Amino acid sequence: MANVPGTNTGHGHVWARPDGSRARCGGPRMCKECARDAAEVASRTENKGARRIEELEIAIRAALSFVQGRHADPNDGYARMVIAALRGALAKD
Ligand SMILES: [Zn+2]
Repeated sequence: MANVPGTNTGHGHVWARPDGSRARCGGPRMCKECARDAAEVASRTENKGARRIEELEIAIRAALSFVQGRHADPNDGYARMVIAALRGALAKD
């Protein structure tokens, strides 16, 4: 079975084990198993971040379309400001 964060698997360096045990292996920089666990945790965190950004972009596009549909008046300064902010958030470098 693969090592799972938060459980009594792994060497106790990448995540604290509930049982408090910690191997004298030197941690991710010296130990292959710890290094593998660290890479796995980093990749999960990255995937989670990417998914979150996608969700936020969908929400921002919906909000932009909503504001543009409701506030067609070009003299509505507040709507213009909100639209500019939403467009700015969606702009990519
Ligand atoms: Zn280790």
